[in-house]
Amino acid sequence: MAQLSSNHSTEEHVSARRIGEADVVLISEGILPWPPDLQAPEKEWRTAIPEADEHGVVPLGVHTGLVRLGSATVLIDPGYDDPGSPWDERFAAETPGLRRTPGLAAALSGLEVSPDNVTHVLITHAHGDHYCGVTRQENGRLVVRYPNARHVLGRQDWEGNPERHDPGSDIAQRLGLIDRLGMLDLVDAETEVVPGVAMIPAPGETAGHSIIRVRSGGSNFYYLGDLYHHSCEVEHPGWVSAGRDPVAMQTSRARLTAEAAPSGAVLAFTHERFPPWGRIVPTDSGHRWERG
Ligand SMILES: [Zn+2]
Repeated sequence: MAQLSSNHSTEEHVSARRIGEADVVLISEGILPWPPDLQAPEKEWRTAIPEADEHGVVPLGVHTGLVRLGSATVLIDPGYDDPGSPWDERFAAETPGLRRTPGLAAALSGLEVSPDNVTHVLITHAHGDHYCGVTRQENGRLVVRYPNARHVLGRQDWEGNPERHDPGSDIAQRLGLIDRLGMLDLVDAETEVVPGVAMIPAPGETAGHSIIRVRSGGSNFYYLGDLYHHSCEVEHPGWVSAGRDPVAMQTSRARLTAEAAPSGAVLAFTHERFPPWGRIVPTDSGHRWERG
């Protein structure tokens, strides 16, 4: 699609690390303009988010994760449909300022990971930027992209989600196909999906929101989904976007900080600037995000 092709980022969009015996790869899907809707005074969030433009719009990253550990090949939040796909064209038209990288499928091809060999697709929550890539269009029909994978989602984001009853919605069409084919597993408690990789409930962004922990060889990595949208929320854990559950969000953030900060765990959240690796470190008055 011409407009998006010209907007494709030529910046690095794949970043890999070793966590114990696990290969963890973070892949950028693009840049998403975000009007901060934090429940905080504008003067304060503008100080904390200096990259906001005059309209208050902030360019956020959008990432997916790949974890290879033992015999498992685990995708986390398979993001958007492909650049140039009908879904992408519609989304771009609705989202001025959207920029796409070559995308997840291109990155997997470059890493020589076949979609057929993905064993698990873990979805932190049922917002479109985190799951629409579970399917792709083929001859005008949606087909499953990872045909041999179990797809795992927090139960509340499926059973408690009224949007899935709207037949025109992405969730009905895309996750609905996964469900109809018997490929969707729902979890509502900490679940070790494969040895060393766990889905952990962390509600707030949605009722079924989960984070992913990879534990191997004494090292920990957490993929945090939308537990934070911007790193300033680590320093200001009470700053929560409109429409979320602020009490649940702050409880989930406090639990993560208590577990991950002392261990020096490596962290990433979906909308951090690429490459999104970081840690939560203590300050005199609380904690802050440290990139790297
Ligand atoms: Zn998101």
